[in-house]
Amino acid sequence: MELNDRRLGLTPKRIEALRSLGISSSEALLTYYPSRYDILNCSDPSSWKEKDRVSFEGTVAGRVFTSYFKGRAVSRFQVLSNDMVIAVTIFNRPWARSLKDGEVITVTGIYQGKRRVTAISYTSKSMEEQDRITPVYSVKAGIQQRTVRDSIRKAMDAALAEIDDLLPIRFQRAYRLCSKTDALRFMHEPKSEEDIRQAMRRLKYEEFLQFFTAMELLKSDHGQGIYKAPKAYDPSRIEAIIQSLSFELTAGQKDALNDILKDLSSTTPMMRLLQGDVGCGKTVVAAIAMAAAADAGYQAALLAPTEVLARQHLESLRTMLGSFGYTIDVLYSGLSNVEKEDVLHRIATGETQLIVGTHSLLQENVEFARLGFVAADEQQRFGVNQRKVLREKGVQTDFLLMSATPIPRTLAASIFGEMNVSAIETLPSGRKPVTTVLVKENSFRSVLDDVLDLLSNGHQLYVITAAIEKQEETPSRAAEDVVKALRTLFKNYTVALLHGRMSSSEKEEVMRQFYDNEAQILVSTTVVEVGMNVVNATGMIIYDSERFGLSQLHQLRGRVQRGSEQGYCWLLTGSKEETALERLNVLVNTTDGFQIAAEDLRLRGPGDILGTRQSGLPGLVLGSLYDDTAVMNTARKDAVTMMEDSLNPDFIPFLDAVRERSAEHGMAVD
Ligand code: ADP
Ligand code: MG
Repeated sequence: MELNDRRLGLTPKRIEALRSLGISSSEALLTYYPSRYDILNCSDPSSWKEKDRVSFEGTVAGRVFTSYFKGRAVSRFQVLSNDMVIAVTIFNRPWARSLKDGEVITVTGIYQGKRRVTAISYTSKSMEEQDRITPVYSVKAGIQQRTVRDSIRKAMDAALAEIDDLLPIRFQRAYRLCSKTDALRFMHEPKSEEDIRQAMRRLKYEEFLQFFTAMELLKSDHGQGIYKAPKAYDPSRIEAIIQSLSFELTAGQKDALNDILKDLSSTTPMMRLLQGDVGCGKTVVAAIAMAAAADAGYQAALLAPTEVLARQHLESLRTMLGSFGYTIDVLYSGLSNVEKEDVLHRIATGETQLIVGTHSLLQENVEFARLGFVAADEQQRFGVNQRKVLREKGVQTDFLLMSATPIPRTLAASIFGEMNVSAIETLPSGRKPVTTVLVKENSFRSVLDDVLDLLSNGHQLYVITAAIEKQEETPSRAAEDVVKALRTLFKNYTVALLHGRMSSSEKEEVMRQFYDNEAQILVSTTVVEVGMNVVNATGMIIYDSERFGLSQLHQLRGRVQRGSEQGYCWLLTGSKEETALERLNVLVNTTDGFQIAAEDLRLRGPGDILGTRQSGLPGLVLGSLYDDTAVMNTARKDAVTMMEDSLNPDFIPFLDAVRERSAEHGMAVD
């Protein structure tokens, strides 16, 4: 059901608020799960501990004193509860002044010790009448909990009946799982903690079953068990290339390269995930492997997410391999028609051995003479469909995916199943860890001198913002405003702006300017995550840093650790929340991508880090790849059972739904 469906009865204002939370249908609304529950703590005051969230009923004793401090109302009064006097303070509720001596109220707040409570709310309802469990949804500033809660209630009345329960009966029975509608009702209106537990059991299992079914489909799609002619490369030439590099490969790079070379000479098509932190040298490894494939008589392709990156890769391939006589070409949509025709012709005749390109490489008009190896660069959204296209273009193509999303090795192996994993766990030596500074205000004036130093030494600066333009309800800094401010502040430098709503040719042009140092400051939303390699950029300022995932911040700062110069990253935040500051401090204190990912998972759950957006893994919202190993293993086994018995009427609806979803979202593993 669309959000504007009359049966839902949502006002345009509410619809807009929901859309800004990424909710666009009644189904999305019903699966917008609470981020936590507030559980009424009605325990006896004598058992309260400091910082506990507590609720108690009592009578107002005496009068309410209200004063104003920096424009904020502060009200203080006493409540008599079971013969005990509790001192209550409440902020920003000037109307608390009208509470009467003797009035019966229920207060919820945080216990401060010594019989003092800072109230979050109070009501004239008795304790009995209160919801014992209140779901709390994650919202943006300016959107009320009530908006989400009421909208969900409306969706439950109008749209819950439309939700199909596709989970095979066999598994529902075997694990005594509640129905889908019950699960959704329990999530949003639990009467007890047991309700929540039952709902979570059912929904997590379903998520994992979808997840592993999608993985199984992907595997069967890749064509396991197909025979491939081994690629006979020349080890002495590979050795010569390695010797000619201006640096020595790290142990991790050598191991990864050996894994790949073994795959090339095996009789099974390679399906390998190469993972490692930004800057650990994955592209270098891929380039050498491409040379090996070319030596064996095949063409090798490197896919890049943007034109600038494609050109960047072209340049490094030419530097590394040019003197060995390979024919290297590049293909992207920005080429002139004449250039394109020319390249297409060389690819088709086989003259081109190594080809770098964007998605253009996957288009119909690109015919390869003998494609045998494909490497996809990090962040390349690489769906089932694209893979099929490539397989059809190649002859038993070997396939290498490079990813900077740090997933622990054992976990990656279990997620990707048949996909083999190589991990590069150390950075090249001499690389200085980025100096990361947490600035506890949303302004860099306290570090302005450092920034000026950096610029006057000829270095370049990234400035990252969470939003493009000012939004009324969020106080965060917008790229457009920041650009204006910086242009006045740094008159001697050129400030460029890059954001996701620009056309791709506009984006390419801005990236080129920064790449060629025509612009010294690049203000950008997170599009720069995508592999920009500007060695001269050594500083990065990130506004509203608490709004980003830790792994995302880690990848962002990896951009200023490209050469031997010391890189600096200033994390700006106006947040006063302890958990937010604790999270950001993880980045100040460690540079280990795997550890950061683990912390991210601990503090935010898997949705963000392994969310569809970043890793392309389908919909794990509740399930955690770290904590739910039991249900995960069961679901994996059941997914295999379904695939092996895929004509079973009990399984068909579920399998069809997963298939449809993967096709729709171009499910990617990047
Ligand atoms: P990734 O793709 O993993 O982000 P790249 O392959 O782009 O990393 O390498 C990042 C930079 O480090 C490049 O400039 C590359 O030349 C350099 N580099 C790669 N491997 C080494 C090494 N072993 N020693 C020194 N520098 C290296
Ligand atoms: Mg790279």
